[in-house]
Amino acid sequence: DNLANQIAAGEVVERPASVVKELVENSLDAGADRIQVAIEEGGIRSINVSDNGHGMDREDAVRAFERHATSKIRRERDLFSIRSLGFRGEALPSIASVSRLTLTTSTEEGEAATCVRMEGGKSLSIEDTVRSQGTEVRVEELFFNTPARLKYLKTVNTEVSHVADSIGRIALAHPDVSFLLIHNGRELFRAPGDGKLLHVIHALYGKQVARQALNVTAEDMDFSVKGMIIRPEITRANRSYISTVINGRFIRSIPLVQSVLRAYDTLLPIGRYPIATLSIEMDPKLVDVNVHPAKLEVRLSKEKELCRLIEEEMKQLFRQQVL
Ligand code: ADP
Ligand code: MG
Repeated sequence: DNLANQIAAGEVVERPASVVKELVENSLDAGADRIQVAIEEGGIRSINVSDNGHGMDREDAVRAFERHATSKIRRERDLFSIRSLGFRGEALPSIASVSRLTLTTSTEEGEAATCVRMEGGKSLSIEDTVRSQGTEVRVEELFFNTPARLKYLKTVNTEVSHVADSIGRIALAHPDVSFLLIHNGRELFRAPGDGKLLHVIHALYGKQVARQALNVTAEDMDFSVKGMIIRPEITRANRSYISTVINGRFIRSIPLVQSVLRAYDTLLPIGRYPIATLSIEMDPKLVDVNVHPAKLEVRLSKEKELCRLIEEEMKQLFRQQVL
């Protein structure tokens, strides 16, 4: 049902950045700690994501393009305690339905690798090949068979900046994974993957900002919050520089952002925002990620408590800074 895939693609695959996000999340779910993303012409010409994750055998590589063939939910109740980033089994079939896609994957060093080629959702070939352990997905000519959607894409620069934003957010959520982003052969971003959030902040915002970063930690029975904040006086940030990560997943949460801003109260200079990254760990049962196909929004069962915890911790931090 290629039509169903193309319809799903309408929700999951809006632009090159959404393809990059889905592919990189798959790499993370596969346990990769080295992920390289190379795009050409803003990703419109090609997107290449390669990882050193656990890879797939031939059978799984073929099955990955069947709709809802996720390997990540074994039992129904897993749906309510999702830890992996993907779980719908929609991304690969959707992307494959609107592009020319080549997947090369191997489960073990020195073992036979598999190469699957797809075009507009149809399988072109399945061959043996060689590669080191991990997976590489190459997506060429995105939207070649859906001209209306192709036309909707913006300039190369706009698409590149969406891809860079997307990689930046994922890197903030995963300081222990090394990322490299290349556009038209030029390196745009590199995160070392040494587990230090400060190094990701450095890579994203530069030395000046990193030097001023303050640690944030807070904990109660339900939540553990770790992160960094950079005071608004020294940044040119806007609201979107406040990023929140729940159980390794970047999410958008207006209440959480507001609790950071409320902590400043009258201290916040007009029109200025802090840079903040908060990584929150909680029992997955307290999070419902199954709200939006792009999985950016979540429902939290103890949102008020979490907001209060963050606000109080920040307030205390700022008080210490002011004194
Ligand atoms: P989901 O991530 O929701 O499970 P996807 O369509 O994104 O669905 O991927 C389908 C399946 O293909 C995954 O469940 C996984 O088993 C496999 N897969 C995709 N990308 C990779 C990868 N980089 N490494 C290993 N397995 C992968
Ligand atoms: Mg996925």
